[in-house]
Amino acid sequence: MRPVCVRSVIIVTSPSEIRGLIRLARGLPDFVREPYSVEQAKEIVQRGMQRRDQALLDKVEHAVFGHARSPYRALLRHAGCELGDVRELVRQNGVEGALERLRDAGVFVTFEEFKGLAPAVRGNASFEFRAEDFDNPLTNPHFRGSTGGSSGRATRIQFDLDHTGQVAPQWTLWFAAHGWLAPDRPLVIWWPGHAGAAMGHLLALKAGKPYTKNFVQVRPEALRDRVGAALVHGLVRRAGGLSKPEFAPTHATDRVGAYLTGLVEQGMRPCVNCSPSQAIRVGRAVAERGKTLDGVTFWLGAEPTTPTRRRAIEGYGAVAVPLYGFSEGGNVGNQCPNGIDDDVHIALDAYALIHRRRAVRDQEQVDALLFTALRPACPKVLFNTEIGDYGVLETRQCGCDFDELGMTRHVHTVRSFDKLTGEGMTFVGADLFDLLEGVLPQRFGGAAGDYQLIEEQDADGLTRYRLLISPAVGVVDESAAAGVFLDGLASKRKHYRYMATAWRDADLLRVERAPPIATGRGKVFPFRTLGRS
Ligand SMILES: [Zn+2]
Repeated sequence: MRPVCVRSVIIVTSPSEIRGLIRLARGLPDFVREPYSVEQAKEIVQRGMQRRDQALLDKVEHAVFGHARSPYRALLRHAGCELGDVRELVRQNGVEGALERLRDAGVFVTFEEFKGLAPAVRGNASFEFRAEDFDNPLTNPHFRGSTGGSSGRATRIQFDLDHTGQVAPQWTLWFAAHGWLAPDRPLVIWWPGHAGAAMGHLLALKAGKPYTKNFVQVRPEALRDRVGAALVHGLVRRAGGLSKPEFAPTHATDRVGAYLTGLVEQGMRPCVNCSPSQAIRVGRAVAERGKTLDGVTFWLGAEPTTPTRRRAIEGYGAVAVPLYGFSEGGNVGNQCPNGIDDDVHIALDAYALIHRRRAVRDQEQVDALLFTALRPACPKVLFNTEIGDYGVLETRQCGCDFDELGMTRHVHTVRSFDKLTGEGMTFVGADLFDLLEGVLPQRFGGAAGDYQLIEEQDADGLTRYRLLISPAVGVVDESAAAGVFLDGLASKRKHYRYMATAWRDADLLRVERAPPIATGRGKVFPFRTLGRS
């Protein structure tokens, strides 16, 4: 082992973590040995489509009723529902039909309940769940760590080879549908360097098309996360024979842009996995040099690919292809070559999605998406569970290969609620309250209600933040206020350091002297999400 690994093992102290990493090191050679062929992938997905009912019932039997701490067991029992009742519901109504009946009977979990931030109140009963109660009791993850980028109190990632292997066939089919398996379509990744990103590398390897270039956008800041990431990435790189990563922070758009246009000049048509914001920034940088991104495809995750953002990316000459997934649940859906906006085919072998109407803060009602995970090794047990997103569900024929597999269910116009989203980083808004209502007024004067964070988008759909400070506060050193705010964020939770760094790198926060903006009902919230500026 190289010296860096020896030093790292001493810092990663937990014996279970070391055992997990040893299992990972042992499991990787077999895992990467045989990537899926398109035929194999198709067979696996078809089999998954045919046994959706059984996959759901297996989950309910073993991970819900067979698991004393399962939150879903408590909710099902409260609704008077035993395993036999669920079987009967699925037999009579199919998977989605049964899930809708159960939702109506109170068997669902809100985002706040899923994160352990609020009790689940159903009728006169109240349940307290913790985020870890939703861990899949049937799996034994190879690595647990922090992304620094996911939402809520628990920002853990669970890294599991079985789950990665179960997700990969969808990627193979998706790559094939877009022609990305061809030799002139090198895959590039430009992503934060947390341990969870290693799963992307493994997925690509298993799907038969490894990334040939790895730009690291943000390094983990906390020592423990950095060490965990170095270990996991090191093991994956070695097993997969992957090249070393190159650090390219958010503002390194010239370098990444030159790399991509260089590939195009050599006759390649690269595909780049990054966030829509980064794709737009690269487009701007390339355009400033009088070039275009003609020949480049971006496959986009982490943030919504809004129509504005998509138009901006296409305006720079590139092709935009969104995917939909989240760190605790893996890939949920992918866009086919016929797709528009952020529309994706839901991977129905792996997920069932239904709606639940709910209010977000005191503002509008949204159709929250309830997720039910069918993949046996999904790190979380998701059973009518919100992940903080809402969107539009549709069933229709699309005219592509995914129709033939029976994947006619689509989701589009997906947006997040109750959390801010920017630069691939999300966090629960409540964490801002202390800064905006406590720290800033104490330091610079004024009171709660004088400071407000606004999230909005510029003409290209890039996310920006404005920190409004009421003129009533008097003289304020604006750059000091921005600094205190970002330092405060970074110090609150270690994984927010990522986000503060990304905001600084991309110069995303502006301080403005203006009164905070009230809602239609006259309320002033410490933060607000507005549309286009
Ligand atoms: Zn399609």
